[in-house]
Amino acid sequence: MTRNLIELLVLYQDLDLMLKETAEAEATMGFEMEGREKLRKAMDDIAKNISPRFLRTYQRLHTRFKRPIVPVQNDVCLGCFAKLPTSYGEKGRKDQMIYTCEQCGRILYWVE
Ligand SMILES: [Zn+2]
Repeated sequence: MTRNLIELLVLYQDLDLMLKETAEAEATMGFEMEGREKLRKAMDDIAKNISPRFLRTYQRLHTRFKRPIVPVQNDVCLGCFAKLPTSYGEKGRKDQMIYTCEQCGRILYWVE
């Protein structure tokens, strides 16, 4: 359940970044790129499966960070490189909720 939620959020973030990249490319090239509508549609589809509460958290963080969701490796937040309590990892892997970094506030996900 949580894994799915995080995976959806990560996917959402990927599409979000891709959409921004195409917007930047369009600005420099001066014409509309194909596929943007598809990206936007895919984002909408994913958003339907993410609870509004988490989407709001994502969007709020997105005003501060380019990537609001970051992986954790060896108990270190790869957003700000703060060491996280080991118990975080144990809980974060299986709990039905979202964990954020105490230092930078980004949403964390654990890669196996
Ligand atoms: Zn952090």
